[in-house]
Amino acid sequence: MSALGSAHTQALLTVRSPVDGRIVGRVPDSGPQVVAERARALRESQPGWRAIGPRGRARHLRVLRDWLLDHERHVVDVLVAETGKARADAATEIPLVCDLINYYAGHAEEFLADERPRPHGPVGFAKRLTVTRHPYPVAGVITPWNYPLAMPGLDVVPALLAGTAVLLKPSEVTPLTALELARGWREIGAPPVLEVVTGGAGTGAAVVDHADFVQFTGSVRTGRAVAVRAAERLVPFSLELGGKDAAIVLADADLDRAVQGIAWGGMFNAGQTCVSVERVYVEAPVHDKFVRRLTRLVSGLRTPEESDGGRHLDVGALATPAQRDLVHRQVTEALSGGARALTGGVPGAVGTSYRPTVLVDVHHSMACMREETFGPTLPVMKVADADEAVRLANDSPYGLSASVWTRDTARGEAIARRLEAGAVNINDVYSNLLNFPLPHGGWKESGTGVRLGGAQGMRKYTRQQAITAPRGPCRPGSRSGTRTRPSVPGWWEPCCAC
Ligand code: NAD
Repeated sequence: MSALGSAHTQALLTVRSPVDGRIVGRVPDSGPQVVAERARALRESQPGWRAIGPRGRARHLRVLRDWLLDHERHVVDVLVAETGKARADAATEIPLVCDLINYYAGHAEEFLADERPRPHGPVGFAKRLTVTRHPYPVAGVITPWNYPLAMPGLDVVPALLAGTAVLLKPSEVTPLTALELARGWREIGAPPVLEVVTGGAGTGAAVVDHADFVQFTGSVRTGRAVAVRAAERLVPFSLELGGKDAAIVLADADLDRAVQGIAWGGMFNAGQTCVSVERVYVEAPVHDKFVRRLTRLVSGLRTPEESDGGRHLDVGALATPAQRDLVHRQVTEALSGGARALTGGVPGAVGTSYRPTVLVDVHHSMACMREETFGPTLPVMKVADADEAVRLANDSPYGLSASVWTRDTARGEAIARRLEAGAVNINDVYSNLLNFPLPHGGWKESGTGVRLGGAQGMRKYTRQQAITAPRGPCRPGSRSGTRTRPSVPGWWEPCCAC
């Protein structure tokens, strides 16, 4: 991506295909002034959006869902062009966002309704207690490049339904799909409460400077900078950051399922998913068998060089040359430290692709076991038992999600409770993310706050307000039928109903 020149007062950024380097689009590099103007316009439109209520807002979101389905082919084309993903991977993003619209549009009224908590003791018996929710005027949503539609969608949908206006800043690497989302919003004639600003770090920082709530998804390093700035402004924020998800394979696991699930969890989207399987711990009795089967499966996956023009592609290109280089640095460091690549271990021949890789004989101080990889690699370690697997899985600064593979579901759940991760899937991967009533959020350096999680995924875009009111008519000067005399004339006199 490079600055090319200016259109009006804005420089342009070039978006290139990571597969062949061809230019697939140019977008404005919006400076702080443009961001401030967009935020101001959103702030003006938001009260009207709030006023139409959850049902009115749900109607617009459902029309947007239909627009996405009507334009599916074109949107997936844009996604593939700017990411280099396999088409099958790209094709999952629209259904995910549509499912999310269905869920949150169907529950918006319920999730945003006033609550009437019961008083906790005699002080409150005479009161009617109410909690109301008021949407933040403008939410800033800042997203990474790995899912150019799904990442914005997961936050924009509940935020809009909550009644907030949204200022979306997609990654400068993949801004085109987010612009399609904004085009859809305009074309369905919805109120102007969704704006996309394109650009790099400066644009993102300006969004943090103008939002009333910041939803950030990206790296730990940037997340920390966003948190510092939001704290200076005293605006709330939620961070969805990196991960190093562990898979634990117990000796009693259904190995076919474990091999397929872990291969898919590590290789889907070329490993560029926050909840990708990034390290595998296998109990000794099944380690060799598991590794043999995993290697056979992974070595058969088709990359851009074997994909017949993209038609039979399993593992697409990585999003940027820098990402491919990072993956290769981790792999070469592991190999020089004594690890072996049973398949892969080298960059692909086309664009930024990387050969799907299985590493063994790794140890826990290697970067491939400690740092986020975000690429198609599966380092596998033999462990003596489940206790060692849990200890190693928890020996990480990250805590996004994990998986446990066993035929004994109760044992799997018991192990899940010992893992320091925001989600644990038994005999599956990613599954918590597809179940919207469940929260998706990282522990430790993987983030603060959660997205999704039923009502909380929408209520996070609102401020709570407590209201107390008398239960019955107000009769000054009486308490339980007995007159009380104020010690200071004119002083407040409590009454039975207030
Ligand atoms: P990144 O942190 O480099 O960038 C993310 C976004 O932040 C981009 O839009 C970028 O322009 C913007 N940005 C950069 N500097 C900024 C600043 N100072 N202030 C505000 N915004 C700024 O991340 P990336 O490389 O685009 O994405 C990969 C990372 O995202 C990985 O670490 C991955 O694990 C993480 N991720 C996490 C989740 C999750 O749900 N936990 C989901 C997807 C990706």
